[in-house]
Order: sequence, then C-alpha cells, then structure tokens
Amino acid sequence: MEIHIITAFPNMFSGILDESILRRAVQQRAFKVHLHDIRHYAKDKHQQIDDYSYGGGAGMIFKPEPIFDCIESVIKEHDLADVPVTLLTPAGDTWSQPKAVEFSLRNKLILLCGHYKGMDQRIIDELVDEEISIGDYILTGGEIAAMCIIDSVVRLLPGVLNDIDSAVTDSFQTGLLDHPHYTRPEVFRGLAAPKVLLSGNHAEIEKWRMEQAVEITRKRRPDIYQKFIESENDD
Ligand code: SAM
Repeated sequence: MEIHIITAFPNMFSGILDESILRRAVQQRAFKVHLHDIRHYAKDKHQQIDDYSYGGGAGMIFKPEPIFDCIESVIKEHDLADVPVTLLTPAGDTWSQPKAVEFSLRNKLILLCGHYKGMDQRIIDELVDEEISIGDYILTGGEIAAMCIIDSVVRLLPGVLNDIDSAVTDSFQTGLLDHPHYTRPEVFRGLAAPKVLLSGNHAEIEKWRMEQAVEITRKRRPDIYQKFIESENDD
C-alpha cells in the first residue's frame, strides 16, 4: 500500500513509523508512506501557508494556493488521479473498524491533514473526495488522526501481524468487544486466572470467551450489543 500524507508537519510521523509493528511493516514493504510538506509549495519568501480568516475571528486558516499546488503535483507525480483525497476533519464520517477494513483493500491513500483553525473551504470543495473524523473531540491537527487511520489500516494488511487471527478476533471486528485475556503466572498476588482457560478444553474455552465478550459488550456498549443480537436473530 502507498500512503501519501499532505501535511505542514511531516516530522510528526517519525515516531509511529519508526517503532514496533509499523516499523517492521515498512521494512517488509507492506506499505510505504510518502510525506508531502505543504510548506514546500508556498511561493513567497516566508513560506506562508496560512492567513487570517475573512470576516475576522480567532485562528489561522490554510491558504488555498500551497495546498492546491501540493495536491495537484503529488497526484501528477505519483499517478494518483483515481485515488480519493481524504480530509481529516471533525466534520467527517466517524472512523470505524469497517472503514479500516475498507481502506485496507485500497492500494493507495491520500490523507490531507488540516491544522490551526482549519482550511479555506475552496480546498475542500474542489479537491476533497471524502471526510473522516476520528471522534467527537478536537485535535490540534489532522496528523494524529492520520496516524490513527494508518495504524488501524496497516495492521490489517497481509503479513503485517504475525498472526492475522489476532486482528480478526479483535473488538469491533467480531461484532463484540474483546473478552478478557490472562497469561502466566497462573496465580498473581493471590489472583488466579480462570480455571477454564487452563483446562485444555477448547470448546469450553471458546464458550467462556464468547460469554464474557457478550456480557462486556452488553454492559459497556448497548449499541453494539443490540446490533449483535439483531444479527444473531437474523441467522
Ligand atoms: N475549527 C475546526 C472545527 O471546529 O471543526 C477545528 C480545527 S482543528 C483545531 C485543526 C485540524 O485538526 C482540523 O482541520 C483537522 O484536520 C484536524 N482535526 C481535529 N480534530 C479532528 C478529529 N476529531 N478528527 C479528524 N481530524 C481532526
């Protein structure tokens, strides 16, 4: 997968790409990130990419020219004419596991990160194909939202996780929240791991895990629980 990120703060991405599973996935060439710095497309000598808001008010707004130049030249250079431009914005559709699955099936992504108060609406009207929010709260910029998208998408790509079963049994993927997990020691500070998990009886273990997942989902996420019950009734 090829991921193009349009950002004024490319250095923010070094942390996630240089550690853990994503670092290994980069080394395995499961995906490649291209960071495109909006500032390189600013034409004036101060490399100004933002300006005051017409009509007044607090906060700076990304100017249209550098972002238009950046996106148009990235699309041309990397042959991305058919690739949707995805803007990270609080006004977008809420990111979810089904969306992560859908994005993981694409070969190329273009993620546009806002910053400051926002961006000139003409950028959104003319260049953006879809808008994604990672939740009902405000970040300083779209970079962290883009990182959430990259992380949740890349772990679904073939070969990235050592055991793909790990991804397909995660919360949301199964239609439920995950069940509790235990590892050694069997007793820690007087707290014993559930006996059934050490029984070797796989049918019983699966039954216990399913019951736990259903109960946790019922208590914590009645919305997801309701959908699960409806899908069980449909089967
Ligand atoms: N004025 C904007 C508003 O009220 O919706 C908030 C701007 S925010 C401080 C700066 C940038 O961070 C946004 O342009 C967007 O790219 C990104 N951002 C902030 N919160 C986000 C969220 N929940 N999901 C995705 N991107 C977000």
